[in-house]
Amino acid sequence: MSVNQQAHTGPPYGQPQPGYQGYQQPAYGGQPLPGVPQSQYGAYNGPMPGYQQPVPPQGLVRAPPTSGAPPPASEASLPSGHLAYSQYGHEDVQNGVPASAAPMQRPPASKPFLPGSAPTPVQQYGPRPASVQQLGNHMAGMTIGTTAGTTASAPPPAGLGYGPPTSVPPVSGSGLYTPYTASPGPPPTSVSQGLPLAQPPFPGQRLPAQVLAFAPPPPSTGTGPSSYPPTTGAPRPPTLPGPPLPGQTVAGPPAFQPNHVSSPPPPPAMSGPHPGPPMGGLHGPPPPTHPPQPGYQMQQNGSFGQVRGPQPNYGGAYPGTPNYGSQPGPPPPPKRLDPDSIPSPIQVIEDDRSNRGSEPFVTGVRGQVPPLVTTNFLVKDQGNASPRYIRCTSYNIPCTSDMAKQSQVPLAAVIKPLATLPPEETLPYLVDHGESGPVRCNRCKAYMCPFMQFIEGGRRFQCCFCSCVTEVPPHYFQHLDHTGKRVDFYDRPELSLGSYEFLATVDYCKNNKFPSPPAFIFMIDVSYNAVKSGLVRLICEELKSLLDYLPREGNMEESAIRVGFVTYNKVLHFYNVKSSLAQPQMMVVSDVADMFVPLLDGFLVNVNESRTVITSLLDQIPEMFADTRETETVFAPVIQAGLEALKAAECAGKLFIFHTSLPIAEAPGKVKNRDDRKLINTDKEKTLFQPQTSFYNNLAKDCVAQGCCVDLFLFPNQYLDVATLGVVTYQTGGSIYKYAYFQLETDQDRFLSDLRRDVQKEVGFDAVMRVRTSTGIRATDFFGAFYMSNTTDVEMASLDCDKTITVEFKHDDKLSEDSGALLQCALLYTSCAGQRRLRIHNLSLNCCTQLADLYRNCETDTLINYLAKYAYRGVLSSPVKTVRDALINQCAQILACYRKNCASPSSAGQLILPECMKLLPVYLNCVLKSDVLQPGPEVTTDDRAYIRQLVTSMDVAETNVFFYPRLLPLTKADVDSDSLPAAIRNSEERLSKGDIYLLENGLNIFVWVGVNVQQGLIQNLFGVSSFSQISNTLSTLPVLENPFSKKVRSIIDMLQMQRSRYMKLIIVKQEDKLEMLFKHFLVEDKSLSGGASYVDFLCHMHKEIRQLLS
Ligand SMILES: [Zn+2]
Repeated sequence: MSVNQQAHTGPPYGQPQPGYQGYQQPAYGGQPLPGVPQSQYGAYNGPMPGYQQPVPPQGLVRAPPTSGAPPPASEASLPSGHLAYSQYGHEDVQNGVPASAAPMQRPPASKPFLPGSAPTPVQQYGPRPASVQQLGNHMAGMTIGTTAGTTASAPPPAGLGYGPPTSVPPVSGSGLYTPYTASPGPPPTSVSQGLPLAQPPFPGQRLPAQVLAFAPPPPSTGTGPSSYPPTTGAPRPPTLPGPPLPGQTVAGPPAFQPNHVSSPPPPPAMSGPHPGPPMGGLHGPPPPTHPPQPGYQMQQNGSFGQVRGPQPNYGGAYPGTPNYGSQPGPPPPPKRLDPDSIPSPIQVIEDDRSNRGSEPFVTGVRGQVPPLVTTNFLVKDQGNASPRYIRCTSYNIPCTSDMAKQSQVPLAAVIKPLATLPPEETLPYLVDHGESGPVRCNRCKAYMCPFMQFIEGGRRFQCCFCSCVTEVPPHYFQHLDHTGKRVDFYDRPELSLGSYEFLATVDYCKNNKFPSPPAFIFMIDVSYNAVKSGLVRLICEELKSLLDYLPREGNMEESAIRVGFVTYNKVLHFYNVKSSLAQPQMMVVSDVADMFVPLLDGFLVNVNESRTVITSLLDQIPEMFADTRETETVFAPVIQAGLEALKAAECAGKLFIFHTSLPIAEAPGKVKNRDDRKLINTDKEKTLFQPQTSFYNNLAKDCVAQGCCVDLFLFPNQYLDVATLGVVTYQTGGSIYKYAYFQLETDQDRFLSDLRRDVQKEVGFDAVMRVRTSTGIRATDFFGAFYMSNTTDVEMASLDCDKTITVEFKHDDKLSEDSGALLQCALLYTSCAGQRRLRIHNLSLNCCTQLADLYRNCETDTLINYLAKYAYRGVLSSPVKTVRDALINQCAQILACYRKNCASPSSAGQLILPECMKLLPVYLNCVLKSDVLQPGPEVTTDDRAYIRQLVTSMDVAETNVFFYPRLLPLTKADVDSDSLPAAIRNSEERLSKGDIYLLENGLNIFVWVGVNVQQGLIQNLFGVSSFSQISNTLSTLPVLENPFSKKVRSIIDMLQMQRSRYMKLIIVKQEDKLEMLFKHFLVEDKSLSGGASYVDFLCHMHKEIRQLLS
C-alpha cells in the first residue's frame, strides 16, 4: 500500500498494543446523546435499543410471484392493494441503521437565544498581524445574475429540498410521447393462476427468466432509430404455439401473424395508428371476463398475463398535455398492456423478503448471491465480506474476456468499506501483529486472508491472488492439521473471516510518523443572508452542545479530535480559543489572495479544556455580525485557510463549511454566474456539470495530500454553482448538503439532524484504498468521491460510513471455474483517535464458461447502481442524449445476449428477461428519466449537479430507493402492529382518492392526501376538519394523540432513521399545485419531462433487443 509522503509530526504513538489472540474489537462512536435512540455500532447516536426481530404476521398471504413460479397450493392471491406481507422487520433494515419502533428522538433543540444573555458585542479583539490588510476591492459590477430557472426570489411554501416547485407547463415537442392515460381496469388478476407453468430451465432458487410475449412490431416501425416508443403503436401477438417443453422457457407467438391494424383514432396529439389484434393465452384462453384484446401481451414462465383496460398509445410526439391531476386529458385510448402482468418491483422485493429474510446470510460459500438490499437479513461472516461491505453486479463471472464482452454485463463491485452494521452483527476484529505488521504476499502485497494456501507444513504460504510463495514469518508460524488447515484457523480473523482490521505499523504512516488525532474546523459564512435568516445563530447554538459528541474511539472518555473556528464573508476571521484566555480573540485576514493562518497556538483546541472560551465565542458570533451589510463572500480562501491550519497542526481533519452564496468577491477561486438553461439538450450541456475553473481541482489535490476533507452545507437562495463549489468536497471524500431557500421554521430540524449525524458519524481520515484481484481480472475503473493520482490507489482525505466506491473489473487473462476469482479491498486509514489501521474485505466469486451461469447470478440493484454512476460521470464529457442512448444500448445488448444464448428458441414477438434481471428495464427507465439525465422544468442546474454528486457515492440500497421510490398506503397501515403497510407500485393509477400515501426516495418524504379521504382521518392526522384546511406548508406532522397519527409519525421516524440524510417532508394534496412535484416520483408513469412510462419503455427495449437479434 503506497502512502503519500507528506510531512507529518505528532506525538509518539502511545496506544497499548493489544495481543493478537484476543481480538480487540473497536468500538466507534461518540458518546450517546441523551434521549436519542442508540445504535451500538455507529458513531451516530450510540447504541440502539432492542433490535426488532421480524415476526411474520399471522395469516400471511401474498400474491403469486410474477416470476411464474408455481405458487404454493395454500397461497391465495389477492389484489396487490391487499397484500399483507409487510411487516416491520422485513421492511426496513437495509445495510443501514436498523429500524426501531420507537419514534426517533433528537437532542433537545437549541435553546432560543436570549438577547439579554449575550456578552457585550465584540469588536475586533487581538492585534492584527502586520501583514493583514483590508482589501477595499468590492468588485463593482459583479452581481449575481439570475436566469429563467433561478429567478424565484421568495422561498416556495414547501418546495423540494432542491429547487422551487414551479408550475411549468410541459414544453411542447420536448418529448416523444403521447399522454399515457391510465385507466383503472378490472381488479388485478394473477397471471399464473390456473394456468400451466413451464419449468424453469435452470435449477436453483432464482428463477431464470421472465417471458413477456410481445407481438413483433409492425414493419414500418422497425427502422426508426431513435424515437421510441414505436411511433405507430403496439404490435400484437398473434395466435399461440403449443405449450413449452419442460425445462424451457415458453415459446412465443409466431412472427408471421398479422401484426398491425389501425387503431381507433388516437387522442389529438397522437400520430400513430393503434394496432392491436386479439391476443390469446399461451396455454389456454384468457378468462371469459377478458375477451381477446389488442395490445402487447406478456407471459411469465409459461403463463400469460392478461390485457386489461384501455391501452395507451405509444406513438406520437409528446403533445404537451400531460396526464396530470385534474387537468382534463384526451379520452384514454382503448387498450393497453396490463401493468399487472409486467415485472413488478414490489413483487420481486416481496418475494425476496419471503424467501430470504428469515435465514441469516452465511458468507462461507463462494459466489453466493446475497438477498436483495430491500430484504432485512442478518449476515454471518464465514470467510467472505458481508454484502453490507461489498455487493457485485454478478457473483459468477465469465471465464474469458470474450464472454464478458458478449454479454455486456459490467463486472463491478460496490464497496462500502466502513459500512455501519446492525447491532447483532460483529464489527471487524482488530488484529495486531506487533511491530512486524500484517503478513503479506511478497510479490503482490496482498494481505493475509482466508484464501491463502499454507504449504510445506505451514512454513510457507501460496498467494491466492498471484500464486507467489512467501515464507511465513517465524512469529506467525503455526502447524497444519490433517486437512492442511492451520490449527489456529478459528483463532485468527484474518484466516477465517471475510472482514477484519490490522493495526498498522509506522511503515503505513506518512513520513514514517504516527499521525496526530484529526481536527474539525467549523467555518461559518457570516454574510448578510446567513445572519438574516437566523442561520448563524442556529449553528452557533447547536455547536455548543454538539461539540460534546465528537467521534470517540472505543472506551476513550473524550474525543481526541480538536476543534477550531473561522467565520467569513469576504474576509476571514480566525479565533483564538486557547483555554487560558478569558475571552476569545479574533484575528482578521483580509488579504485573501494569499491565505495564511494568523495564529498557531490556540486555534485548534480540546473542547473540554477550552469549553468556557468556546461557549463565549459561540455566544458572541451572532452578535458581532448581527448588523452586517456585507453580502459578498469568498470561498476558496476558506478552504485554503482550513488546509493551512491542518498543515500547521500536522494533522488530518475535516472542514465543516456553512455557505450561502455564489462567491463573487475578488479572491482566488472566484466564480461567476454561468447558469444557462438554454444549454440543456445541447452539446454544451456537459459544461453545466463541469467546474468553471480548474482552481478547485488543484486545491482538492492539495487537500487530499494533507488529509483535509471538506463537508459543505449550502443554503442558496439562487444559483451558487454546486458543480464548481462541490469539487473539493467531492474529491476529498466529503459530503454536500443543500437547503435551498433555507427557512428557520421549516428547515432547521432537517439541517440540524444532518449536521449532528455528519459530525458524529464514523469516519476514517487520510484514507487510501486499493482493490487487489486474483490473476485474470483487475480493477480498471472507479466511481465515487475521491481523488486518484495513479491508476490503482483511491485516495480520500476522509471516508465515512455512508460512502461507497464502485469498482469496475476487466479481464486481463482467462479465469478458471475451479479457482474462481478473488477480490481483496484494503483500506488504510487513520481512526478518529489517530490510530492508523487497515481494514480488509475479501470476497470470492465463481467463474463460468456458460453465459447462463452469469445471468443466473446477477444482481440488478447493483447493476443499476453501477450504470447510474457510469452515466452520471458520462454527462461530464458527453451530451446527455449520447449517455442515455449508450445506457439503453448496453442494456439491450445484455438482454439480447441472454435471449440469444440462454433462452430456448421462441418467437421474436416475445420479450424474454433473465429472472434476476427482470427489473432491469423498469429500473433503467428510472435512471434515464432522472433529473440528471432528463431534467424537468422545475429542476435547477444546481439540483442536477448536487444529485449527480450524491448518487456517485450512494450504496445499492440508496440508489434502489432513489430511483424507484417507496410508496406506502398510510391508510392501510395497521395501527396496532409495528409493520409497515405493503408498498405499492409507483403509478398514479395505484392511488385511490380515498387514501393517504407516503412516498420516500431517500431525500424527500411526500405525504399525498386524496380528495376523498374521510374527514376523520384528516382530523386525526392533520388536526383540521377538512381537506381544504390541510396546510401544504407543514414540515412536520402535528403531534396528535390518536393511533393513526402516532402510527404515521412512527413510520416517518423509522424511515428517517434508515437514511443517511434527514428527508424533507412535503405534504401534497391531490389536485393541488404541488402534486406535480409528487407525480415526478411516480416513476412507472410517463413523466412531464418526457420520460417514458414503464410500459412504453418495456416496449421500446423489446424493439431494441429485436433489432440486435435480427
Ligand atoms: Zn500475491
